[in-house]
Amino acid sequence: MYDIIQAVSEERIQKDISTLVSFGTRHTLSDTVSATRGIGAARRWIKKEFEAISENCNNCLEVFYQKDLVKKGTGPRIVNDVWVVNVVAIQRGTTYPNKFIIMSGDIDSRVSDPNNYTSDSPGANDNASGMAGTIEASRVLSKYNFENSIMYVGLSGEEQGLFGGKGLAAYAKEQGWEILGIFNNDMIGNIKGVDGVVSNRDFRIFSEPVPPTETEEERRVRRFYGGEVDGISRQLARYVHKTTRDYMPEMNPMLIYRLDRFARGGHHRPFNDAGFAGIRIMEAHENYTQQHQDIRMENGIAYGDVLEHVNFAYAKKLTAVNAINLASIAWAPPPPVNVEIGGAVQPSVRLRWQPVEGAKGYKIYWRDTTSPTWDHSQYVGDVNEHTLDGIVIDNYLFGVASIGPDGHESVVVFPGSVFRD
Ligand SMILES: [Zn+2]
Repeated sequence: MYDIIQAVSEERIQKDISTLVSFGTRHTLSDTVSATRGIGAARRWIKKEFEAISENCNNCLEVFYQKDLVKKGTGPRIVNDVWVVNVVAIQRGTTYPNKFIIMSGDIDSRVSDPNNYTSDSPGANDNASGMAGTIEASRVLSKYNFENSIMYVGLSGEEQGLFGGKGLAAYAKEQGWEILGIFNNDMIGNIKGVDGVVSNRDFRIFSEPVPPTETEEERRVRRFYGGEVDGISRQLARYVHKTTRDYMPEMNPMLIYRLDRFARGGHHRPFNDAGFAGIRIMEAHENYTQQHQDIRMENGIAYGDVLEHVNFAYAKKLTAVNAINLASIAWAPPPPVNVEIGGAVQPSVRLRWQPVEGAKGYKIYWRDTTSPTWDHSQYVGDVNEHTLDGIVIDNYLFGVASIGPDGHESVVVFPGSVFRD
């Protein structure tokens, strides 16, 4: 894990962000024919980069376009028929080729008018930073083998209404891919907030509390057994928080108990809509004069999302956060299934689950009901049930993770049902 952190290169991230900016605009509806300007040139360059990385690892990446035709008028920001084209690179897992952990950035950019597809729109931070981080993570991780598949993807159509994410989530369902989760990286390069705060350590992990796909019955049951803040995306967020704290103590990950920023959107959401775990990883201190802005001077303020405002050392840190979490999940066994809990009116708590292939054992986690993080744990070995003596179920929340032979842990699973015997 420390080797992975060390291997992430600030210089390469800087170079890739600069290259993405050099395409002038990467607006989803911009030129696709030019070799030097527009989203067509940008996506061809991204595909070439992934292919070059693949050549350096014995063709370890499967690189392809995934695309959907979005018809004019599908949304207020689709003013022409447009192919929304994502660039996908899959590093196939050795044991679980159909299970995927995904890192994404966005290809597209915009200026003040979301439908202006010709003006210069460098999108250096939003979101060349996330795109460059995703490419760099693939460079670093392609030197290793993993049990689970890792997918690196450049999504398009984000600014026009999250169309690339929608397309890829639907494609994932069609293909029967098991998505372990997606890390949506959207703006990972700004350290100077519009509020005056400057920090190259803080970053945010956004996650929704429970999936939007949950049933009325699941909602009813939750009222009695808990789980209001323990959906699959929230567990993924806690996982990233913990891994960062363990391996990158200089960073300050902030768990944000929200789907996304207030009234704003991002490309993890279409995956959440499809029932997959997904989080947004991003800077903590945004600068709104440098997002979605025409490049201009106004009242002494330089507006525009230009290269000069990106802190490459910070983008490198957040890329490393992604890389160690991709690796950790891709090396881990599958999470335990059918986790059940019992212990009403008892001085102990019982958990049981279905064992999974590849786990050398299991760890039970618990926490105070008001704590955002899994603060306590006990490794219980290769069993499929365990009783925690002396703990009253009412006062804590519980979960179970699988542990692999090398100590890599799955995401914690919150009990999905209750037993009484
Ligand atoms: Zn944006």
